Amino acid sequence: MSDLRDDRPSPSGHPGAAPATLAVTAGRPPRVQGGPVNAPVVLSSTYVSTGTPGPGELLYTRNGTETWGPFEDALAVLERAALPALVYGSGMAAIAAAFALVEPGARVVLPRHAYQISLALADELSKRSGLRVTTVDIADTDAVLAAVRGDGGSDGGDGADAQGEPAALLWVESPTNPMLEVADLPALVAGAHAAGALVVVDNTFATPLAQRPLERGADVVVHSVTKYLAGHSDVVLGAAVTSDPVLRERLAAHRTLHGAIAGPWEVWLALRGLRTLALRVERSQHNAAVLAERLATHLAVAEVRHPSLASDPGHERATRLLDGYGSILGVRPRGGAAAADAVVDAVRLWLPATSLGGVESSLERRRRFPTESVTVPEDLLRLSVGIEDVEDLWADLAQALDRAAAGTDPR
Ligand SMILES: *Cc1c(COP(=O)(O)O)cnc(C)c1O
Repeated sequence: MSDLRDDRPSPSGHPGAAPATLAVTAGRPPRVQGGPVNAPVVLSSTYVSTGTPGPGELLYTRNGTETWGPFEDALAVLERAALPALVYGSGMAAIAAAFALVEPGARVVLPRHAYQISLALADELSKRSGLRVTTVDIADTDAVLAAVRGDGGSDGGDGADAQGEPAALLWVESPTNPMLEVADLPALVAGAHAAGALVVVDNTFATPLAQRPLERGADVVVHSVTKYLAGHSDVVLGAAVTSDPVLRERLAAHRTLHGAIAGPWEVWLALRGLRTLALRVERSQHNAAVLAERLATHLAVAEVRHPSLASDPGHERATRLLDGYGSILGVRPRGGAAAADAVVDAVRLWLPATSLGGVESSLERRRRFPTESVTVPEDLLRLSVGIEDVEDLWADLAQALDRAAAGTDPR
């Protein structure tokens, strides 16, 4: 298995520099006279090689390629990892590798509002390899830790199965998709580790600008790089990050053995996107906070969820634990699912589309998917706020809400 080894040095940025700086500086080629300032894209499936390969030697592109390195180093620097990140062909490929860290038949605890396909994968593994899945409200720290310890649960999850045996893995998303629940990550990590469970955090929503789970003691961070990190809705890509050499080796082996590798152009595009991460996130979360405040008093709106709002259930915790409230909004128009659908039909600037984290603003009614959790309200619109001018975004949203209200409410 020596071809799975990766002996690159630990990534280093500019110690003490702020994340916005690191996003620009990390993963650059060495400063040499006449050298490029950006890493090249290398298109080669194989490398010149004879005899027994040395440690870390490039051999065949499924095992590793120099085109992944700069992005992997940059993400590691941003997540404050001691080892290079691992890039995968999609967020789900990274998530599948992380799930494979636990044995068949093990028990895992997941947020009931985790990314829908992460829940679907857990369900698939429960059927195929006997993985036992307990779902919890990730904001309810006591219920989460009771489930992790195997005390059973009063959480609405399948607590009966939780009796007696501690979980091998606690899966955390915070804020959650699409309900924006905020987890008390330090408390969850401490409690899960005390019970002997591994902690994996899907940090897609927060980004390493707002939350660095490895600094809070989490074992592994996974990302859908497709979203904020790449940021332009033009690539599908994933990543896993850890400071633990044994876990990293296993995550890397999963990538090689299952073949879930990233193409060189996609990784190059993701690194290009990452350069503007701080600017994009700063602008989009400012826009989101402005819109949240206006939506909260709009007559056609029954409820708005955004952690920036003082009234939001996640506000206090997000203020304490996150460097930024993010740019996803949950909005429930008055008039139920029909009104929500009418809003989606009436927008002209906002894009009706799934996915999130791009420069463009988009929205969708989540329960249009029959597989979405039934604890997500039927009429909930998830808004991914982009970097457009906030007044243009507001004007379009307000006219769509007004039109939907006029069309679905006889008053
Ligand atoms: C999109 C998403 C994923 C899946 O990533 P892909 O790149 O689409 O495979 C996982 N987690 C979260 C929170 C996501 O938003």
